[in-house]
Order: sequence, then C-alpha cells, then structure tokens
Amino acid sequence: MIDLHEIVGQESAIGRLQQNISANRLPHAFLFTGPVGVGRRTTAIALAKLLLCEKPQTGDGGLLAAVDDSDAASGKRACGKCNSCTLMDSGNHPDFQLVYKELARFHDDANVRNRVMQDLGIDVVRKFLLGPVGLAASYGRGKIFVVLESELLSIAAQNALLKTLEEPPPGVTIIMIAQRDEQMLPTTRSRCSLIRFNPLPKDFVIQKLTEGGVAQTEAEFWAGFSDGSVGRSLRLSKMGMYDIKCDILQKLALLGRGGDAKLGEELAKTSDKLAENAVKDAKKQDGAALSKNLATRRTTGTILEIIASGYSDAMMLRAGTDKPLVNGDQLEVIQRLGEKFSPTELGEIIEQLSQFERLLWRNVNPKIVWDNVVITCASAASL
Ligand SMILES: [Zn+2]
Repeated sequence: MIDLHEIVGQESAIGRLQQNISANRLPHAFLFTGPVGVGRRTTAIALAKLLLCEKPQTGDGGLLAAVDDSDAASGKRACGKCNSCTLMDSGNHPDFQLVYKELARFHDDANVRNRVMQDLGIDVVRKFLLGPVGLAASYGRGKIFVVLESELLSIAAQNALLKTLEEPPPGVTIIMIAQRDEQMLPTTRSRCSLIRFNPLPKDFVIQKLTEGGVAQTEAEFWAGFSDGSVGRSLRLSKMGMYDIKCDILQKLALLGRGGDAKLGEELAKTSDKLAENAVKDAKKQDGAALSKNLATRRTTGTILEIIASGYSDAMMLRAGTDKPLVNGDQLEVIQRLGEKFSPTELGEIIEQLSQFERLLWRNVNPKIVWDNVVITCASAASL
C-alpha cells in the first residue's frame, strides 16, 4: 500500500494533513472531496496507517522532496514495520474500518442483504460505524472509519451520524469521502474539516497512464474524459473500454434516423460482459463481493457517459470551439455525429442520456435503457 508521503499530485491536501499531524491538532472528522480516482481513498488509508502506527518516523523528504520541501514532503510517516503497520498492509487492522454501501451484503438481516444498494443506508452505518465506534480500540492507537461514496449516504444515515461526527469517542477519526461537499447535508459538512483534492493536470495523467502501459492516443482520451483521474482512467483502460468507446461512437455516427434494433442488443451484451468481468476481478483482487446488478449499472453508466462525451464534443465542434475535444482521436466520427442534428437536438440527446443514467439507479432494466438510448441517439426523440 502507498504511504502518505508517496502520494503525488495532491501536495496541498497532504500538506494540510501533515501540518495538522505535526501540530498535534488533528480534527476528528474529515470530509475529503474531489473527483473519483485522484487519491482521496488512498490518502485516507495512508493517513489511517500513519495514525495507527506504533512508531511513526520523521520523514527525510522522500518522493516529494524532489519537487518541494513542503510539509507534505517532510512530515511524519508510518514506520512500515510495527505490528499495526503490518496489519494495515495486510488489510486486516481491527481498528480500521472502511464503510461502503456494498457492506449491506454482510449484514445479519436478510432484508438489508437483499435490498438493491442504491444508497448508503442507515442499517450499514449503524452496524459498521455507529455500533463499533464506541468499542475500545484493539491496539490503543485509536480507531479510524473511512466512509466511501459519502454522497450516497441517505438523509437518515447522515442524521444518525451527526452526534458522532460532532463528538466522536476519544481516539476516533472519521473520514468521509465525497465528490463534492455540496452533495452532503450542511449539518454534516459543518462538522467535518474539509480537505479538497484537485483534478490532476492533464499532462500528469497522460504521463502516468503511458508509464502504466497505456498507448499515447488512448492516454490522451482518458486524461480528457476522466477529469484528471489516474485511478479511474487506468481501471477503465484495463477493462478494454477504449476499443469499446471507439467502436460505439463509430456505430452511432453511422446510425440512421430509423435506429437499429441490433445495436441496443449489442450494447446491452457489451455492458453485461464488462459487468461480469468486474465481478470476477473484484473477487480476485480482495475477495470482495460485487453484485452483478450493481456492476451492470456501473458499466452501463460509464458507457452512457462515454456516449455523452461524443455528443458533447459534437456540440462543441458545431459551436466552433478551439478547445481540445475529449474524443479528438475520432475527429471524423465526431463531425459526423454533429452533422446529423441541430445544436438544440444535440443538447436534448445529452440531457436524455443523463436521464437514462438516473433511471438505472431507479432499477430500470438495463436492456430497456439501451433500446431507448439507441432510439434517442438515432432520432433525438425523447421517451
Ligand atoms: Zn508502524
């Protein structure tokens, strides 16, 4: 696992955390915000490792020293050798708990287990946070809870958390991770110390992706598409999503106003296959159970986002933009997509695609969604 001083591209966030640690003024509740995959979760886990370490060391600069001599570079770091560090590295520290909506699968109550996990509900929060928060720490260095996708916390769950966020038991640190702070209730926000994570610069993302074995053209696409997120880009690239996106945009550009029934079926199959692979990968990686249902909704959502990026490029092109397109690698395809519709129609297609994404989370059958996506992309007609 990565240590705090090894995280690159988030010097301001890490620097603030290190300042807090050096001054012994660590807030007991944090809200980490920023795009998916820019290092929020990695930082939260690294911070936990440092806080739980039995013999934290003072750093000699490490990786970051090459670029600056800020607090981010010179601050404390986990020893990596103590019992606690070993437990963190193995992913089994009893005083560290990740809280996420899929934990519903491990709930004792069958009703909770069988619910479609659209939000991070109060049952999960009670069982995996509010219950254990008051129990004594196993190693006497406190306890850390990291809440992933906090923007999905239900209102009831957020309300139930307020008292603990305000005044957690001694030694407890709670880190909430969300994309944007305004997605959280104001009462939750005001009880957390806000740490913002920035999108990473495009060139930095491209460089990291090519170092990770991604071809230059593909890396340029992901850097534009993923809002400066190396993590998400690498994940999507590994899924083979780039070839899929090239193929789908090409087919949509050739689509006549009459639509194509086969294309809906093909898209449903593609997202289904990707979801199957995601379920297998999750099992292989950390033995975590990812439900097929959730995986299908996620991959469908990603493909919808990719399609929307094509139409939004087409709209920018029609408006005579001089900004680089996300799908600059398929310029002719984008031109063709744009020629078929008026700018208003293009806007309607993009809006409709985001509606479909919302429908997915309301449990509409993905196959039906795909059929309608094809109709929308063929004719700009809404449902
Ligand atoms: Zn240690």
